[in-house]
Amino acid sequence: MSDNNEKEQKAEGSEEVKEKEEGEEPTEEKQKAKFTFKCTRDDKCCLARGPIPITMWDLELWAKNGVIANFLPYLDVYTKPDGLTDLILKPLAPSKGDSEKPSTDPFAETPIEELLEEKCPLYNKEQKKCLVYDNRPLSCRTYPLEYDGTHFSVVDVDCPGIGEEGMTKEELKEMRETAKMMNYELSRMRIALPVLSQIISSNFMKQLMKQQMEAMSKMSDEDKAKLDEIFKKGQENEQ
Ligand code: SF4
Repeated sequence: MSDNNEKEQKAEGSEEVKEKEEGEEPTEEKQKAKFTFKCTRDDKCCLARGPIPITMWDLELWAKNGVIANFLPYLDVYTKPDGLTDLILKPLAPSKGDSEKPSTDPFAETPIEELLEEKCPLYNKEQKKCLVYDNRPLSCRTYPLEYDGTHFSVVDVDCPGIGEEGMTKEELKEMRETAKMMNYELSRMRIALPVLSQIISSNFMKQLMKQQMEAMSKMSDEDKAKLDEIFKKGQENEQ
């Protein structure tokens, strides 16, 4: 079982983290510690969260702000072990030097299953910041609190922001509302996904073609002729 799964299970079914001091039976008040949270900007979640689910709310926000095309290269579709399929931000594979078994195929795509604890593609490690903070997904706005339609749960009990003092009642209420909205928006997305994935892939292809045409217009005639020759040879070899 991965660390993340273990963490999810520990906190399942409650927004409150249970505590018990050693050798002491907990009293009713001590059984549950109140959930408080303040983001410490430690950014561990951005560095190791794996696939970030994308909702209809996110797509609507990006469309409204005119930035949807910027996200297209990072989107993918992932069917989780529980059978649910989500649109996600695909985590970044570790650089080849970091990998234990470097791939022999430089164009090989790393399967999402191998990236479940990898970095978000939109986190800049050097600058230590989210590159799309104002447009960050709903899932990042409610992390580490989740709502499953019945219960709230803390999905990462090791998040350093949990237990931080200073959360007001209004902030807690807002976080709960955001977690509920995330649950609703995720269901909307799962219904729309079969249609959306086609639109996304055709937009992605259009974007690729545009980039190809731009690149072609910058190439010298000599390079274009060489490229033509390479393609022809490739086709001959395939026949
Ligand atoms: S989108 Fe931004 S806030 Fe969300 S995980 Fe990526 S880097 Fe972090």
